[in-house]
Formats: sequence, structure tokens, C-alpha cells
Amino acid sequence: MNDDSLVTIDVDLEGDGKRFGNLAVPQSTNSAGWAKYFIPITVISNGDGPTAILFGGNHGDEYEGPVTLLNLARELTPDQVHGRVIIIPMLNHPAVVAGTRLSPIDGANMNRAFPGRRNDSITGMIAHFISSRVLPLADLVIDIHSGGSSMHMLPSVNMHRLENEAQMDLMLAAARAWGAPYIFLYRDIAGEGLLPSCAEQMGNVTLGTEMGSKAQFGRETLLVTARVRNVLHHAGILSEPGSDPGVAEPIVVAADDEQDYIMAPASGIFEPFFELGDPIAACERVGQIHSLEHPERDPHPVAARSNGILFARRSIPLTRQGECVAVLTREVSS
Ligand SMILES: [Zn+2]
Repeated sequence: MNDDSLVTIDVDLEGDGKRFGNLAVPQSTNSAGWAKYFIPITVISNGDGPTAILFGGNHGDEYEGPVTLLNLARELTPDQVHGRVIIIPMLNHPAVVAGTRLSPIDGANMNRAFPGRRNDSITGMIAHFISSRVLPLADLVIDIHSGGSSMHMLPSVNMHRLENEAQMDLMLAAARAWGAPYIFLYRDIAGEGLLPSCAEQMGNVTLGTEMGSKAQFGRETLLVTARVRNVLHHAGILSEPGSDPGVAEPIVVAADDEQDYIMAPASGIFEPFFELGDPIAACERVGQIHSLEHPERDPHPVAARSNGILFARRSIPLTRQGECVAVLTREVSS
């Protein structure tokens, strides 16, 4: 079976220098039977050395990645690089253009589409190109996320807890080098097919982030995100670290129990009782949900099922039953 990607690329991934170009994903639409959807890519190479691949806009409503990586792509010059930096600042470009988490073209979630399929809808075709042509080149993979429209988050570099201890140690060291306030060890509670999972399985040092949210987007979260240069320096790719070293000893936290992810027991308006960073005990109420139809009823209580600090909370007041309203984490030794 032919598994070659149908996506083409107009820049050479090999060879020294700096090149801006595009991936071109085949499309056949109402307005053009023959069309290509372009996804920007930048390659900055200089001699032998490791390869870092940086992604932003995996989810389209998370702007910390696109802004940081568009700046980095313009600013980095080949003489600053030992090895190679490949930057895809708006991986789910249709979603970034629409300002939505999911692709407006096929409704798919890029971060559930990996490894993708050759002849998929647009999101799966992009994922397939990345998993088959780009990730195999990597030593270091960075996928910049934030809470987007729906969640407020404490700023963190994150990863799964891997069984491969040597790989995990390398990932924790790279995460420390970032200088973000938190390192967050998470588990998948809403499906599989994540880009970082795909990169981890290939043995790459893989870092994700949760840098804030659409409402928190601003100077503070962008300053933390821009410290990504420190990781490139840690990997030996940049001769100089970023101008901001950030936090020397980040707090390592984990939400590795399903109970740490609290889903709304009912639909309505979620009223939070705590803010990010607050300690919460099991059985304590993290908030309550007001009925939109029955003002005579008491609000539905939302109780914590584990102890921890409030690491993330829902940022959209209107809530449907089953949607995540809070995530608790506990400090761990690493
Ligand atoms: Zn995301």
C-alpha cells in the first residue's frame, strides 16, 4: 500500500540557510475543484547538530504558540543555530484563521488526529505528513498550547509520565531549562492521537505547554512562552539562551488520577469558588452549577474528588454536563 504523503512542501528540509515556505495540502472545494491549502513552515539550518521542531496553533484558539514562533522564525538567523530548527507556527492553520479549537474545514481536532492517514480529511492529512516526514527528523519536539477559549491554566511546560526513564529524565531536564513556573505531568482523559504522544513514541524529547488561556493572553504569558529559546540553548542548538532565564526551580506537579479532572455533573452556569493556585481538599466544593431552567432549585454542587491545588478551571461560564470545570494537581518529586 502506498503510504507516501499527499502533502507537498516547497522548501528543502536539508541544507544550510534560512527558508520560508509552505506545506501544500490537496483540497477540492466548491470554489475550486483543484486547490491547495498552504501551511507556513520555516527552516533554519547551520551545519551538524540536533534538530528541534516547534509547533504552534495545533489548536486554533491558542495564540501564544503562533505569536512566539512567528517572532522566533523571523528573528533567528543561521549563524545563531548549530543544527536545525523547523518551525510550523500555525499547524492547524484553518483553525487559527477561524479562531477555533477545531478545524472549520472538517471539524477535526488536530491533537487527536495523529498519526493521521494519507488520504484523510485535511486535519488527518496534515498529521500524516508531520508524523511520517517531519517528526522522524527530530531530536527535540515542542508543541505550544494554552487553555484557549475554554480553560484558564497556570503556565506550565508539560509531558506524559513515560515508562522509559532515560527519555523521561531528558524531558524533565529540558522542561526545567524552559524557566516556566510549573512542570505539569498529565494523563490523557479525552481520547488519544496527540501530537506529543506520537513524538514521544518515536523517542524524541517532547515538551508540550499550557501557557494560559485566550482571556489570559498578554504580555505575561507571552514572556513565559518566549523562554522557549532557553530549551533550544539547553539542547545545544542555540549558542545563547534567551534574555529571560525565568524560574530556576519550577514546581513539578501531576494530575495522574482520573479523579483529578472534574467534569460538570449537570448543565448550566458554572460558578467557581476558587482561583488558580488555591489548595482544595477532597469533597470540598470547587463550585456550583446554576440551572438555566429551574431558578427555584438549589445549584448543583461540584465537589473535588482528590486533594490538590487548582491548576486549571473552566473559563466559559456556560457549561454542558460532562465538560471539564477544574483540574487539581499535586506537587511531586521528580
Ligand atoms: Zn491545545
